[in-house]
Amino acid sequence: MGSAHLYALRSPSVVVIGAGMTGILLAIKLREAGVTNLTILEKADRLGGTWRENTYPGVACDIPAHMYTYSFEPNPEWSHRFAHGDEIQEYFERVGRKYGVTNSIHFNEAVTSCVYDAGKWTVKTSKGRLVVADFVINSTGILHHPAKPDIKGIETFGGAMFHTAEWDHQVDLRGKRVGIIGTGSTAAQVIPEVAKIAGKLSVFQRTPQWLLPLGNKDVSEREKEKLRKNPIKLLRLRKFYMWAISQLLTKAVTGHKLQNVLFSTICKLNLKLSVRDRALRAKLTPNYTVGCKRIIVNTTFYPAIQRDNVELVVDRIDSINPTGIKTRDGRQHDLDVLILSTGFNPVAYMRPMEVIGRDGLHINDAWKDKIRTYRSLCMPGFPNNFLMLGPNSPIGNYSVIEMSEVQCNYILQIIERWRRAEFDAIEVTEAATRRFAETIKAGMSKTVWVGGCQSWYLDGDGDPILWPYTWDRWEREMATPEMADFTTQKFASGGSVIVPEERVAS
Ligand code: NAP
Repeated sequence: MGSAHLYALRSPSVVVIGAGMTGILLAIKLREAGVTNLTILEKADRLGGTWRENTYPGVACDIPAHMYTYSFEPNPEWSHRFAHGDEIQEYFERVGRKYGVTNSIHFNEAVTSCVYDAGKWTVKTSKGRLVVADFVINSTGILHHPAKPDIKGIETFGGAMFHTAEWDHQVDLRGKRVGIIGTGSTAAQVIPEVAKIAGKLSVFQRTPQWLLPLGNKDVSEREKEKLRKNPIKLLRLRKFYMWAISQLLTKAVTGHKLQNVLFSTICKLNLKLSVRDRALRAKLTPNYTVGCKRIIVNTTFYPAIQRDNVELVVDRIDSINPTGIKTRDGRQHDLDVLILSTGFNPVAYMRPMEVIGRDGLHINDAWKDKIRTYRSLCMPGFPNNFLMLGPNSPIGNYSVIEMSEVQCNYILQIIERWRRAEFDAIEVTEAATRRFAETIKAGMSKTVWVGGCQSWYLDGDGDPILWPYTWDRWEREMATPEMADFTTQKFASGGSVIVPEERVAS
C-alpha cells in the first residue's frame, strides 16, 4: 500500500550539451523526472547528431531498425529492416517534436567552455551566453570528429575532395573518376552507391574487412499495419533483436568461442561464395580474427567491388598530387573526385571544448596520459559532470540507444539524490576510477580486439575503448550508482531553488 509524503525537492539547473540521440533522451527523461530548469545547447541548426551529419549515399544503420529506437517510443513505421539515415533522422525529429524538446533547444550555439567552482558549472557558448548550472551532461557523441588522413600532398589535390561525414552534395559523381580511401563500415555502404554512377571507381584499401551477409529488406505495408495494430508484436520483435545481438554478435567478440566460431564461419563462407575470382578474394581476405575490427553487416559491397568500373587498389598510397593518387608501386591513379572514408577521431569526446574542473584541472591535463572515466560516465576532478556514451560504453555491434537509456537512468538517480539535498557536489574517487580501468583491462585479453588488427576499438596503449564484456553485465553494473565510489560535498550557499513536490512513496 502506498502513502503520500511531502518532500522538499530541490530543483537543479542542468545543461545538456548536444541534441543528438542522447541529448534528446536526457531532455525527455529529465523533464519527466521533474527537472525543468534545463538548457540544451546544440552547435548545429538541427537536432540528430550522427544522423544529421552523415548524409552520404547509402547511409543506413546496421542495427535492426525495430531495435534502434528509444524503448518508450517504438516505431512501427520503419520502411526497411535496416533503416536508412534520413528515416532515422526523421524519427529523432518526430520524437523531439512530440516531447516538446525541439522548441527548447538553443541551436547554432556551441559550448566553448565549462568551468567548475564550488558546486556550480559556468557554461559559456559561442554566442557569449553564460549559463550557471548545477550539472553539466556532455551528450556530444563519440564518432563526430572526422579523421582526415595525413597523406603527403593531400592539400594539392585539384579535384573535389571531402570526408564521408561532410558529403558535398553539389559534386556530381556521374561518369567521374572517383577514388575512395578506406573500406570500413561507412565505405562498405558508400562504395555500392558510388559504383552505380561513377565512370570509374578506385577503392584504396589498407586493410580488408570481414562482412556478415545480413541483407536489407523492405517492411511491407501489411507488416507495418500488423505492427501498428499490435504493440506487443512490435515489442517482441525488438526483444528478439536485442536477444539475438546481445547473445550472438556481442558475445562473439567478447570471448565466447561458440559464437565466434559461428560468425567466423559465416563471414569466411560469405567471402568465398561471393567472390569467385581467387586473386581478388585473396586481396579481400583479412588476416585477423573475425570481429577484431567492427563486423560489417552488408550484402552489397562484394558485388560492387566486382563491377567492371570498380578497381580494388591494395598497393599502399604513396602520395596525393593535383591529378590523383600515386601508389607505392609507382602507379598514378587519375581522379576527378576523392572521397575520404577514413573514419573518426574516437577519443576527442566533448573536446575541443575547454572543460575545467575542480582546482583548475583542465580536461586535456586530466586525459594527458590516458582517457579515464568511471563507468564511462564520470571523471575524477570533474564533479557534477557526466559523459553520455563515454569511453568503454560502446558494445560491439549493439544499439547505442539501449546503452544510453541505462546511462540516463544512472545519471537521474544521482540527480535525484542531489534533489533530496544529500549533497551539492558529487565526484567519483581516483581509486574507483582506477578499479574501473583495471576491470576494463582484465576483460581485454578474452576479446577478439586483440585478434591481430588495428582499429578505433583500441586506444594508443592498445586498451579497449569499448566495453569488453557482455550487454547483460553492462546493464547489471550500470544499474545503480555505487555511492561508496563517490565523495560528496555540501556548500554553505547550498543548491538552487527549493520546490515542494508531492511524491508517493510505498
Ligand atoms: P573506420 O571503420 O575507422 O574505417 C576507416 C577506414 O579508412 C579503414 O578502412 C582505414 O584503414 C582507412 N584509413 C584510415 N586512414 C587511412 C590512410 N591514411 N590511408 C589509407 N586508409 C586509411 O571508419 P568508418 O567506416 O567511418 O566507421 C567508423 C565507425 O562508425 C564504425 O566502426 C561504426 O561504429 C560507425 N558506423 C556505423 C554504421 C552502422 O551502420 N551502424 C555505419 C557506418 C559507420 P585501416 O582499416 O587499415 O585502418
